[in-house]
Amino acid sequence: MDKAVNSKRSRAKSSGPSRQAKPSRAEAETAVRTLIRWAGDDPDREGLRATPARVVRAYEEWFAGYKDEPREYLKRTFEETGGYDEVVVLRDIRFESFCEHHIAPIIGRVHIGYLPRNRVVGISKLARLVEVYARRLQIQEKMTAEIAACLDAVLKPHGVAVVTEGTHQCMTTRGVHKTGVTMVTSRMLGVFRDHAETRQEFLSAIGMRGAISVGTG
Ligand SMILES: [Zn+2]
Repeated sequence: MDKAVNSKRSRAKSSGPSRQAKPSRAEAETAVRTLIRWAGDDPDREGLRATPARVVRAYEEWFAGYKDEPREYLKRTFEETGGYDEVVVLRDIRFESFCEHHIAPIIGRVHIGYLPRNRVVGISKLARLVEVYARRLQIQEKMTAEIAACLDAVLKPHGVAVVTEGTHQCMTTRGVHKTGVTMVTSRMLGVFRDHAETRQEFLSAIGMRGAISVGTG
């Protein structure tokens, strides 16, 4: 599945996700009114009158990730390692995203590890990288793979490991109504895929030793 996603993305290259002409704010607000009516309510009643405008503004925040090209951003911000050659791990990066199937929240944490070759990035940059991908319509598998591929492409490290844990509100609040279920996805590249020991070192650091066998690329 990831392969199909990747090849689709590479065809749409450079400009990021392909876009049709962006609707106007008024058009977006009208669409929200329609959904309110679809839900069974009256968009003209007092409590709902300002809702379409609020929802559209919230969308600007929730989906701000489409404005950014993470690879370009990361290219500007890496630093030389200064000889550091151990695994770097950043765990528990909180993210809030929306599933592309239901536009329902996915909330969780991303753990990132990489073994630098010449380049490292600061903690805040990694958190920002996660945020840019999260603030798009997503499926968790794709987001995990995209974060790993971006780090791999820009830092060219010996390997990258990304593990994502997410709770999908499309599962907890509708459909199967499964609460307390966390989806775990992983993408291991380079040494993290090829060397069980390095992978285990990372999984121990994030408190998931033994939890993931091999997430291949
Ligand atoms: Zn969903």
